[in-house]
Amino acid sequence: MPSDDAKSRLADLREKIARAARTAGRDPASIELIAISKTHPVEAIRPLIAAGQRVFGENRVQEAAGKWPALREQTPDLRLHLVGQLQSNKADEAVALFDAIHSVDRSSLVTALGRAMDKAGKRPDCFIQVNIGEEEQKGGCAITDLPALLAEARAADLPVAGLMCVPPQDLEPAPWFALLAKLARDNGLAGLSIGMSGDYEAAIWLGATHVRVGSALFGARG
Ligand SMILES: *Cc1c(COP(=O)(O)O)cnc(C)c1O
Repeated sequence: MPSDDAKSRLADLREKIARAARTAGRDPASIELIAISKTHPVEAIRPLIAAGQRVFGENRVQEAAGKWPALREQTPDLRLHLVGQLQSNKADEAVALFDAIHSVDRSSLVTALGRAMDKAGKRPDCFIQVNIGEEEQKGGCAITDLPALLAEARAADLPVAGLMCVPPQDLEPAPWFALLAKLARDNGLAGLSIGMSGDYEAAIWLGATHVRVGSALFGARG
């Protein structure tokens, strides 16, 4: 993508985020835009960095390990979030690479991340992913398991920042976002990682603190 394009897409998105925030009576600065760069090469990422974007997200540890060390060397204040499912045996690598992990969804992973953080002396922010639509194939803990998993995460000294979900496809997302927001409130959590390219405005109205936007910034994935 030519850099003028990246620049104007970013400016346009930031303006829409700010407008949605103001409509909701919220401070636009209270919403973190995570640019989801999965599947896109570093050449597509550099123009966004040049345009001022600093927070990015990937969904695979291996892909992130290939792309980000060089980019970070050039721009030390980048922040990288993991938004995809994480295998426990990649916990060490994930803790080393990422500043935040949005896919903490089971006991075994909490244990692995706790150990990895102790070892590394680095504690990335964690979001507990909830399988909000109770879909069979989807990552995330069941709603009924959330209180117990949260207690385990806190006991393992994971810095739990909030909750994350990906609502069922082809359904109105707002009710799922509202349900996740209620679960966050009930459990004393401030962070809400909700909203993607197609629904970030609704997510902002319902309290998103982190929106994860890919295709609206990078174009469609191949
Ligand atoms: C790919 C992805 C996104 C971004 O999706 P877009 O529709 O391209 O904005 C957000 N969150 C997660 C978990 C993803 O895997």
